[in-house]
Amino acid sequence: MDYQNRAGSKFGGGGVASKEATNADRRERLRKLALETIDLDKDPYFFKNHVGSFECRLCLTVHQNDGSYLAHTQGRKHQTNLARRAAKDAQLGKRNEEGAFTGANAIAVRKNVVKIGRPGYKINKTRDPVTRQLGLTFQLQYPDLAPETAPKVRFMSAYEQKVEDPPDKNFQYMLVAAEPYETCAFKLQAREVDRREDKYWTWWDSDSKVFWAHVTFKTEREERYSGVPGLAPSKGR
Ligand SMILES: [Zn+2]
Repeated sequence: MDYQNRAGSKFGGGGVASKEATNADRRERLRKLALETIDLDKDPYFFKNHVGSFECRLCLTVHQNDGSYLAHTQGRKHQTNLARRAAKDAQLGKRNEEGAFTGANAIAVRKNVVKIGRPGYKINKTRDPVTRQLGLTFQLQYPDLAPETAPKVRFMSAYEQKVEDPPDKNFQYMLVAAEPYETCAFKLQAREVDRREDKYWTWWDSDSKVFWAHVTFKTEREERYSGVPGLAPSKGR
């Protein structure tokens, strides 16, 4: 520390710590306080990025070390955002699709993950020029998702889901899950999904943080002859 420039020194007496020193003390106090109350492994907002610095996913701030992050968690900005998020979650609680959709099978859902909202999305209808099969291309935007966390897709029948009651067998649901985002469900016609490689695929573009999913439906004819050798391709050929 540069004692020459310390406030008070030039007037001949120590005593008064500089503003800088006070801030350092304060940060250290806050860091200790935070360490007592926060387990970084369980903090849903704590994120170590690929360049080795730390991010608060709630406030979208960057910190050079964990101490600085911890001090941040005690600050007004983070506390305000926490309160705001809690209020929002309470409001949305009843509409949390994931809980409702997975119902009793929600074992895999970690309770300490706080959801940060739904991804933006685009859907394009497609038609295979050769087979005339109808399809859909989904584009979901996950700007705050960690690059190594690829979203997951799961199809669910009308009877498996718990959101729409009574279930309508003319529909099925495509779920896209990527924590800490809320799980999205798209309601699709109940026609069988063609699982061949070029007809059904997903791709996580970790650079632009966009998740792509392309779904092609079997035609009525293909559904009818599905599994009959030589007539229509079966699942996962
Ligand atoms: Zn924060």
